[in-house]
Amino acid sequence: MKNSDADCLNCENDLLPKEELPEVTGRAPAAAAGRRLTVKKLDPRLRKPRPVYPQKTSWYRRLLLRLKEDSQFFRSTVQSAFVLLCIWIGIEFSLFARWGSSEGQAAFVPRPPGAEGFLPISALMSLKYWLLTGVINTVHPSGLFILVGVLAMSVLLKKAFCSWLCPVGTLSEALWMFGKKVFGRNLTPSRWLDYPLRSLKYLLFLFFGLSILQMDVPDLKAFIYSPYNKVADIKMFLFFANIGTFALWTIIIFMLLSVFVKNFWCRYLCPYGALLGAASWLSPLKVTRNASTCIDCELCTKACPSNIKVHTATRVWSDECMNCLQCVEACPVKDTLDIRVAVTNTRVPNWVVGSLVVGIFVGITGLAVLTGHWQNAISQKEYLQHFQQLDSPLYQHNRGSVPKYDAGEPGAQP
Ligand code: SF4
Ligand code: SF4
Repeated sequence: MKNSDADCLNCENDLLPKEELPEVTGRAPAAAAGRRLTVKKLDPRLRKPRPVYPQKTSWYRRLLLRLKEDSQFFRSTVQSAFVLLCIWIGIEFSLFARWGSSEGQAAFVPRPPGAEGFLPISALMSLKYWLLTGVINTVHPSGLFILVGVLAMSVLLKKAFCSWLCPVGTLSEALWMFGKKVFGRNLTPSRWLDYPLRSLKYLLFLFFGLSILQMDVPDLKAFIYSPYNKVADIKMFLFFANIGTFALWTIIIFMLLSVFVKNFWCRYLCPYGALLGAASWLSPLKVTRNASTCIDCELCTKACPSNIKVHTATRVWSDECMNCLQCVEACPVKDTLDIRVAVTNTRVPNWVVGSLVVGIFVGITGLAVLTGHWQNAISQKEYLQHFQQLDSPLYQHNRGSVPKYDAGEPGAQP
């Protein structure tokens, strides 16, 4: 029998007796040795203490205490703040596009550089160009810094970007939680279907990654400074603003699938997630289970949105782990499931994980601002020129091959 949300043991008072638990493989020594098997009977001294938030203190102290003690409150706060930031970027970009489309008649609103975070392929080319030449391009420099920040986060904290910051990840989470509330459970595809589907995102990433690997410095420069790349963010915005029926239905279908299957897009199709999953193998901070104190209650496995069998692992190495801390939060036993440094086994408190996520992102994007690499070098006048010619062949995607531009053409590389 497969574990499913229908068997959810979220409330410790509702714990099933051990015999009624779904199939469990690799029992922890504590359970195998016949120690306490249900949370109900757990010695109170072994229980994780519940946080207490004193009433007689200022609201901001209570807020700080809650952010420190409740990792899921911290995570939801960061997710909400990031979604609001993306909405703000979207509104600002739409006003910028209105100015450009009106040929400068509407009021000018500067293009928000954060929009470049939605151009990961262009950012990958910028990264390779930077590594090979030491030059930070002036077309989408903030996209490069955002990618470096997200990669640094993955190398240190596994795919924490997906569960803490990514707006698509937040939407996916909201959708499967909605599905769980309405239908009582989400679907878990069987292994024979799940594994091939999970490999799809790696195939998609390989397609993009290998294409970029084959490009040499002149090719990279030609693409980065091409008219197409200069307006890639504008084209993307217009694509969604004037979305066609086929694209709209595709998005609706993915959203519907995400209601039933947890994180459908992220788990099976997102090539960005594949890149971060590959980088996350290097991460020294991993969910770590203390098998000697584990009571084998499986609450961690049931809490995991990535369907990882946490209760059978000593360390979670899976490329699907997003460091969401839901398993850590769900574990009822003190000092049993934590984030630890793989080599030294040093425990890293949950609030430190959250602070590192925010700190790395703010730190690296802040560095771009401080060093003058946040805004690009495309002037208002040049943008107006681009807006007027958006439909010309010069601005079309060249189906993977690097286009050739005459030096005299508008938007050609310097
Ligand atoms: S193993 Fe834990 S931290 Fe990793 S995805 Fe599952 S619940 Fe989140
Ligand atoms: S690690 Fe914690 S939540 Fe997971 S099975 Fe052991 S005691 Fe239960």
